[in-house]
Formats: sequence, structure tokens, C-alpha cells
Amino acid sequence: MNQNWHSVLLRRLLLIIGGCLLLGLLSGYYAWALVIGLGAYLAWNLRQLLRLHTWLKQYKTDEPPPDGHGLWGEVFDSIYRLQRRDQRARGRLQAVIDRVQESTAALKDAVIMLDRDGNLEWWNLAAETLLGLKTPQDSGQSIANLVRHPRFKEYFELGNFSEPLELPSPLNDHLRVHFQITRYGNDEHLMLVRDVTRVHQLEQMRKDFIANVSHELRTPLTVIAGYLETLLDNVEEVNPRWRRALQQMQQQDRRMQTLLNDLLLLAKLEATDYPSDNQPVSVDLLLLSITADAQALSGNRNHRITLEADSRLQLKGSETELRSAFSNLVFNAVKYTPDEGSIRVRWWADEAGAHLSVQDSGQGIEAKHLPRLTERFYRVDSSRAATTGGTGLGLAIVKHVLLRHRGRLEITSVVGQGSTFTCHFAPGQGFKR
Ligand code: ADP
Repeated sequence: MNQNWHSVLLRRLLLIIGGCLLLGLLSGYYAWALVIGLGAYLAWNLRQLLRLHTWLKQYKTDEPPPDGHGLWGEVFDSIYRLQRRDQRARGRLQAVIDRVQESTAALKDAVIMLDRDGNLEWWNLAAETLLGLKTPQDSGQSIANLVRHPRFKEYFELGNFSEPLELPSPLNDHLRVHFQITRYGNDEHLMLVRDVTRVHQLEQMRKDFIANVSHELRTPLTVIAGYLETLLDNVEEVNPRWRRALQQMQQQDRRMQTLLNDLLLLAKLEATDYPSDNQPVSVDLLLLSITADAQALSGNRNHRITLEADSRLQLKGSETELRSAFSNLVFNAVKYTPDEGSIRVRWWADEAGAHLSVQDSGQGIEAKHLPRLTERFYRVDSSRAATTGGTGLGLAIVKHVLLRHRGRLEITSVVGQGSTFTCHFAPGQGFKR
């Protein structure tokens, strides 16, 4: 009904006043008649207001509003319609929430919602089987108290979730779970946890296979190397036609041995997340001996190798592993820098952590190769590698050693001018004596 309530009310008021005046004319008491008439109208309005108030207070779903007259009836109906509309919208929203909750509850992956401080807000059923969360006791608890692995704590506190994290489940050591955290809304966290035990087992089988094959191949190779050496020691007795072939066999045998050593080292590095020994390493002395070896490797190629190292700056970690990594970088610089070129090795610290850089004036590497350089057997130019005798595993070893020492490798290079390989270590890993 779209009436003009303004004029209706005005007419009604005029009617009441007119009636009162008529009554006043008949009785002679104008003022009393007006007071009584208007008072009655006010009382009626107040009664309607009271009915509306009582209905609103006792409002139950589906209970229709009381009957009202005129404008009051219209007000009652409008409020009722608004309430019904609101109820229907809420019902629809609840149905959507129920469906989302049902579907996430049915997921095999755990879905956990955390507030900005990492306290649990909501989780699905899989979170209970994968991480052992308990409903409702754990609600509001900090996730770091429930997943107590030190690496998880560090990962969560660091807040850099670009890479996922893989760990044993806190519930069962045989389960491997994969954590992926995304920030949403008001800095809250959505955490997805997946069971990757099967993939982890396959990966483990692959690593074990490589480690076993490398190990098994070592003995036959050592035997062959031994016989080749004996034969070449008595080179005068060997038929001259075979001499060159034997020398090449010895060369290839040595290459296979370095390849096996590198494969075994990689397998060892992959077997655990942290180095077994975590001692302070005097990187300056280590670099001094590596640069001396590099100078020997350079021989009459006459590279200019310089070293600037902060002698008070030490690094926590395994000296053997760090020696492998750093010597790979320095020896690569010798291998891939033309004769008389210069190589600069630096070791320093600033507020971002400790850094080691190996800069050469070699032929450089095209930008398209840089992201793939640390892949196993990745080579920029296979013909170049054949002449340098590299295994193609050096930078993969560097990457793994750095990962275990909370470090990362940065490579910058300009073709024709040279390359710089920089190892950045997290603050705290390097420290001053
Ligand atoms: P390799 O045993 O072949 O040296 P690495 O893993 O150590 O294997 O290096 C991978 C590839 O990266 C090398 O084959 C080479 O092409 C390139 N490379 C590594 N270091 C340098 C460098 N200092 N200058 C130019 N190229 C380099």
C-alpha cells in the first residue's frame, strides 16, 4: 500500500480537532473537549507503540506481528517483512558455511585457520589425524606449542612462506607432512598440511639407490685403477699401440672416481637436514688453504688470485662440508677463467649476515642459464665441461651445503666480463670472535 500517510495523518488530526470543537460547541467547554480528544488520540498511539515493543521483545521466528490500524499496521508489517528477509539471507549464508565446512571436513588434507599470532581458530578432521589437534581443547592454543619441531618454530617465526616445509608429523614419526602457509584477510594464516609419506619414501628410495650404486661401483673402479697404474708403471713392457689407450683409460677412470665421490657426498648431504658437527670454523684459514690449492691448480695459467677475509669472523658448521662448497666455487673460477685472469675471494659480515663471494674475470654465463646452474649435471656448454673435466655436480653440492648452513647462493654474471658467486649466511650463523 503506497498511501500518502502525511495527508492521512493531517486529515485524521483535523477530524479529531473538528470533532472536539463540535463537542465544545455543544457542551460549551472547548478547552476540555480538545484536551480529552487529543489525550485519547495520544493514548491510542502509545498503546500501539507498546504493542510493537512487546512483539519485538517476544519475537519468535514465524510469529506474525499484532494487528495494527492505519500507519501502525503498516509499520508492523514492514518490520515483519524486514525480519523475514534477514532470516532468509541468514539461512542461505548458514547453508553456504555448512557446505564449505562439510567439504573441508571431508578433505584428506588438513586445513587449519590461525589468527595473526598463530593461535588456532578452526581446523578440519584431517588436522586431528595428521597433527593430533584436539577439539575443543586446542582451540586458541598457539600452533608452535602443538607442532614443536624447532624447524617449524623457526619457519613460522621467520614468516617467509614462499617455500613449503616438510617435516615428520608430531603425531607419528613415520608420517611425513608438508606445510604450506598462506596469509589472508587481516594477517591471519591459512595452513594446509598434506601427507607426503609416499612421495618421501620414493624420494628416499631414489637417494638410497644412487648412494648404493655409487658405493658398489667404487670397488671395481679401484681395482681397474690399480691394474692401470701397474701397467703404466711398467710402460716400457707395454705394446706402444696400447700406451695411449691405457692413458686415456686412466684419465676416464679418475673422472669416474671423482663423479662417484661427488655423488656419494651429495647422497650424504641429502640424508640429514643439519651437519653432524656444528663447530666454529675459521673461514679465513680455510680460504687461505683453498686459494693456495687454486693457485696450484692454475699452475702456469697464471691466474691472479686475491683473498680478503675478516679473520675475526667465524662460521658455525662443518669444516669438511664448507671446504667442499667453497673449493668448488674457487676451483670453478680457475677452470672457467682464461689464463692470466683475476679471481677475487672475499669473506665479510654486515647486518644481513655473513657473506663469501668468489668473483672472476672469466667468460661469464648467459642470464638464461643462471636459475638452472645448481641442478645436477646442468652445464652451460657440454663441450666446455669435457675439457675442464668437471662432473656437473659441483654447484649442486654448494647449494646443499649452504642449505644445511642456513645460507643461499646468489649468482650474477655478465658475459665476457665475469661471474660472481656469493654465499649469503643468515645472521647468527656467522659470528665474530
Ligand atoms: P662442473 O663440474 O661442470 O664445473 P658445476 O656444477 O660446478 O659443474 O658447474 C655447472 C656449470 O656452471 C659448469 O658446467 C659451467 O658451465 C658453469 N660455471 C660454473 N662456475 C662458473 C664460472 N665461475 N664461470 C663460468 N661458468 C661457470
